[in-house]
Amino acid sequence: MEKIRMQTPLVEMDGDEMTRILWSMIKEKLILPYIDLKTEYYDLGLKSRDETDDKITFDAAEAIKQYGVGVKCATITPNRARVEEYGLKAMYPSPNGTIRAQLDGTVFRTPIMTKCIQPYVRSWKAPITIARHAYGDLYKASELDVKEAGTAELVFTSANGKKTVKKIFDFKGPGLIQGQYNTIDSVTKFAYSCFNYALDSKVDLWFSAKDTISKVYDQTFKEVFAEIYEKDFKEKFEAAGIKYFYTLIDDAVSRVVKSEGGFIWACKNYDGDVMSDMIATAFGALAMMTSVLVSPDGNYEFEAAHGTVQRHYYKYLKGEKTSTNSIATIYAWTGALRKRGQLDGNADLVNWADRMEKAVIDTIEAGFMTGDLAQITVIENPTVLNSEEFIDAVKSTFDGNLPSKKDKDEDNRIAELYDRFFDSRSYKEKIEILRQMRGQLTDKMISDFAVSLDVVIDDGPFDARIISLENCLRQMARFETEGLR
Ligand code: NAP
Ligand code: MG
Repeated sequence: MEKIRMQTPLVEMDGDEMTRILWSMIKEKLILPYIDLKTEYYDLGLKSRDETDDKITFDAAEAIKQYGVGVKCATITPNRARVEEYGLKAMYPSPNGTIRAQLDGTVFRTPIMTKCIQPYVRSWKAPITIARHAYGDLYKASELDVKEAGTAELVFTSANGKKTVKKIFDFKGPGLIQGQYNTIDSVTKFAYSCFNYALDSKVDLWFSAKDTISKVYDQTFKEVFAEIYEKDFKEKFEAAGIKYFYTLIDDAVSRVVKSEGGFIWACKNYDGDVMSDMIATAFGALAMMTSVLVSPDGNYEFEAAHGTVQRHYYKYLKGEKTSTNSIATIYAWTGALRKRGQLDGNADLVNWADRMEKAVIDTIEAGFMTGDLAQITVIENPTVLNSEEFIDAVKSTFDGNLPSKKDKDEDNRIAELYDRFFDSRSYKEKIEILRQMRGQLTDKMISDFAVSLDVVIDDGPFDARIISLENCLRQMARFETEGLR
């Protein structure tokens, strides 16, 4: 089979811990067999960030600006414990924060929906994407706790020295003050990212704030959105058959819960922080959330919304099998390669991404999934696969030969009987187990059983070996019933 060619490289950013392990499995099994992959590789793993004094993260962000599309693995944001664990030179900032600042983008988070997981909100039929303005407000606020009576004022000193003063409050005793800001430039870029993303994905855009109470701050957000819509997007939205509308945040919350989903909900920074957790939880699974950073000038960075799954990684290091969900990471790759394909007019690449995502969904809907999904699925008796088995199963589905659920159930039945043979203390029961395994026995199983019984079954025709094993067991069972053991 000829591999799909790429015209432009993708910016590939490797990461840390369990997601780094999944990253290489996904590449090896799901991508490289089908695509003549062209990437510009940046290792954002903690060790490499430390070796380059974090320059590698800045370089990766620059590369996204140059090429337009990147795909990123989850990375560790070091805290004190990590500085010790990895012997780091410094407590580097979050790579996502660094990249976001350089691209000045908006983060869009969308749940992956499947029939096997039902959202907690019964009316939701299509995903709700949260667009969070990731700049300013509470996250850059200055705070003060006042200890005594006094007057609090907002003071703005302009570049030419002119002061504007506004009284906040006359305190009669101790209290709290908080000063927030945002810039018109950032709000404008946020609005452009949201309108462009809605057009791209052909879904309605909602924006909510609290303009009735915040008559300058939130009102300005509302006006910036409205102006940009009228000026640059109204016609395009109408042509695409999608709508933009603004509503109060409280009204938006109640409408969202009663909706069928299928739209983008743009939120201010704090609202987006809180609401994206609510949406992720209500749709069912943390590991089924995708995330894409879109810059106002149209650069894209795709990733999974979850972290490096540290707890699973430590199990993996001990040689234990993990059942880590790779779906959001697979979708980061398909999202990035689809976008690359769209920008380059490469229909094969777009088609591959669609088919790979379908293979993922078909696999879980056929009952094969990782442990996190098995706990919440509405499918009865799902088959729980480990990290690697799941990726293998997706590959089989993609290649058109996923074992049917029936075959897998049969494999499980035989494996259980095989174990029970050794555990059973009664020879009669062992004969019965052998009978139930008929048709599925292998030469090796017969040898294993013989060893456990301390008998010798000679090499020879397969059927003859079964008969002689049964004969041995019958003999032993006779002693058992006659109480001669
Ligand atoms: P996490 O990696 O998202 O994992 C938290 C828990 O959620 C896991 O222990 C696991 O639960 C479950 N989980 C998350 N993803 C899963 C998956 N794919 N499959 C199965 N279960 C999954 O968050 P964390 O443990 O708080 O953070 C670990 C590291 O990730 C931190 O160093 C943090 O800085 C980093 N982080 C990076 C990003 C990013 O790069 N975008 C985002 C968030 C966090 P069980 O243990 O119950 O199985
Ligand atoms: Mg949050």
